[in-house]
Amino acid sequence: MNVIMKFGGTSVQDADAMNRVIAIVRNQWAANSTDRPPVVVVSAMSKVTDRLVETGRLAGERQTSQATQIIVDLLTRHLSVAATLVQGPALDELNAQLTSDFNALQVDVTAWAEAGEVTPAAADVLQAMGELASSRIVAAAFRQQGVNAAWVDSRQVLVTDAEFSAALPDMDATTERAQAVVATKTAAGQVPVMGGFIGATATGVTTTLGRGGSDYSAAIFGACLDVDEIQIWTDVDGMLTADPRVVSTPVLVPELSFDEASELAYFGAKVLHPSTILPAVAKNIPVRILNSRRPEVKGTMITAKGRGNGHTLTALACKRGVTVIDITSSRMLMAFGFLRRLFEVFERFRTPVDVVTTSEVSVSVTVDNTRRLDDIIRNLRNFAEVSTEPNMAIVCIVGENLRSDPALFGRAVNALQSVPLRLVSQAGSRRNITFVMRDDDVIAAMNLLHDEFFGVKVGA
Ligand code: ASP
Ligand code: MG
Repeated sequence: MNVIMKFGGTSVQDADAMNRVIAIVRNQWAANSTDRPPVVVVSAMSKVTDRLVETGRLAGERQTSQATQIIVDLLTRHLSVAATLVQGPALDELNAQLTSDFNALQVDVTAWAEAGEVTPAAADVLQAMGELASSRIVAAAFRQQGVNAAWVDSRQVLVTDAEFSAALPDMDATTERAQAVVATKTAAGQVPVMGGFIGATATGVTTTLGRGGSDYSAAIFGACLDVDEIQIWTDVDGMLTADPRVVSTPVLVPELSFDEASELAYFGAKVLHPSTILPAVAKNIPVRILNSRRPEVKGTMITAKGRGNGHTLTALACKRGVTVIDITSSRMLMAFGFLRRLFEVFERFRTPVDVVTTSEVSVSVTVDNTRRLDDIIRNLRNFAEVSTEPNMAIVCIVGENLRSDPALFGRAVNALQSVPLRLVSQAGSRRNITFVMRDDDVIAAMNLLHDEFFGVKVGA
């Protein structure tokens, strides 16, 4: 099995974490010794990107000394991790490289601070330093421990457009480069070590994919190299059946579908954002979430089909602090064009609507962004009666099997007998059911549903 293994910021936060990475990659390779070595993608060490963003802000405010001090501190942190992991001439070489990279950045930062301007292109050069530095250290640490690893400059591989801080990949060009630069290394038995998050335009101008973009990088490289599995190593066991701040005993979701992941990500569930794994979805490559502190845990697998039938729900999610808006047509029946006019108001004030339910005379919607609520209400009142109810919450149950097992809906409603439900909606995809209730009831509701679908049943 050919795999790509991506390690997030906390998984490479210091020398101990990097040692864990090396052990994990070694084990992976040993388990698949007949295949090509894994490809490793790393984030910046934790908090480094935040510090670099801060540097850019300070430079923009002409705070030269504060801005350059951060660069000095970051170099110190990287050198100290390097010194723990690497020795001898390899360390001298690594130190010289890191020092020259950070010093060059220091010169740039000084110039930007003097000009009081950090262009979007400059901000990307600045932020790229985190992944460049972490990947160089990890590659050297691998070699120090006898793993045949090769540092690869991701800017030579990931070809993007010039949309700085939100660059999109050119998949054809990147595939060509990945085959030429990365696949040749794995074919020669080397572990390529690359920074996530960063790329460059076809003419070589540094770009970044946006915050959290290393997952996206891993999916892009995985798709271009046609791997069998994309592993996302992080600091949690995987995806849970519910947010542990809301439900006391959530359990691990062993497997879910790309579509379920989309529904859940929308509610802020701790899962990969679907847009970041789109290249994997397009090529139908499974994505596995794993914990670098507990590599023995099986983690969560995201695939096209998920778990299939025969299970109960996949997970629960909730979104708190939403507002319900009830809109009743001023005429007796809903007039032709009423819905269009209604949604145009939300569009005009750039407010997304989450849940929508309708009856013959009224429409109810929920919004979580109330910044333009007064404007929205005033405009709706031109043609409808409007009332609002703040402090509401959305609870969502998600599972592919909601399609096939109609009894699940009844079980959910039954479990919520003691909770007054304000709106209920099941979308056409039928892989989720949404309940809107008072925010005060949400903890109870989530726990009731969790007990019903994931609780250990007496006698079971
Ligand atoms: N280092 C980048 C960030 O913190 C990218 C990533 O970690 O995925 O946003
Ligand atoms: Mg991250």
